[in-house]
Amino acid sequence: MRHIVAVASGKGGVGKSTTACNLALGLSAQGLKVGLLDADIYGPSVPKLLGLSGKPRVLEGKTLEPLQAYGLKAMSIGLLIEPESAMIWRGPMVQSAITQMLRDVAWGELDVLIVDMPPGTGDAQLTMAQATPLSGAVIVSTPQDLALIDARRGVTMFRKVSVPILGVIENMATFICPNCGTASAIFGHGGARHEAERLEVPFLGEIPLTMAIRETSDAGRPVVATDPDGPQARIYREIAQKLWANLSGAPAGRAAPRIVIE
Ligand code: ADP
Repeated sequence: MRHIVAVASGKGGVGKSTTACNLALGLSAQGLKVGLLDADIYGPSVPKLLGLSGKPRVLEGKTLEPLQAYGLKAMSIGLLIEPESAMIWRGPMVQSAITQMLRDVAWGELDVLIVDMPPGTGDAQLTMAQATPLSGAVIVSTPQDLALIDARRGVTMFRKVSVPILGVIENMATFICPNCGTASAIFGHGGARHEAERLEVPFLGEIPLTMAIRETSDAGRPVVATDPDGPQARIYREIAQKLWANLSGAPAGRAAPRIVIE
């Protein structure tokens, strides 16, 4: 793997998984070999987003074969457990599951592995950021203040473990009415961009709140793959291009940082 990139958010429900999935597809559209690892152990949504079902095959011994969807290689705990079963795992078990999905999966040669992180900045996220040789992290936030406060925590967490912030994405930036096409800033507008400027991290772009993104995500037909020339796909592809440009300048396969508690 040339680069491992974490897609994170300070809290749940801001569209982190949807963004991670469409970003991975945007990178793949550039001709890159891309994998998508669902590290959101408590709420795995990659199987649903990519319309995947069935268990991964076990190859020689204990290696798992990733599933393929829309040109991506994908792995998720959601493929290994029953859909309705609750993940009542403590931190170390979560960490061990994530480590296994990184190391014991036959990812093959990849330009980028996108990791859909669990939301928040708790133990699992911190250990993950510490134990994985991440090239950098992308933070997804909605525009309103409350979500931004959490996004700021995300930036602080990655900075603490010396993981470069590759950029901030504002999701649900404006609502595009499916009837008249009018854009309304339901959650305010521009918050994430200003925050990125304030924190001196790159701003990667804004994704509108649209019916098409919601419907295609929930139907397992992500918009970048199913309507690649449409307006939404174009936005994701542009963000993916910026991300790749920022990534190409980042050192590959960085050693995992150490956490020092003072
Ligand atoms: P998270 O990973 O942050 O919990 P999800 O990616 O699961 O969030 O998204 C939560 C819900 O919001 C899903 O139903 C998804 O389809 C929807 N969603 C995410 N981004 C958008 C968007 N830009 N426009 C419309 N719906 C969106």
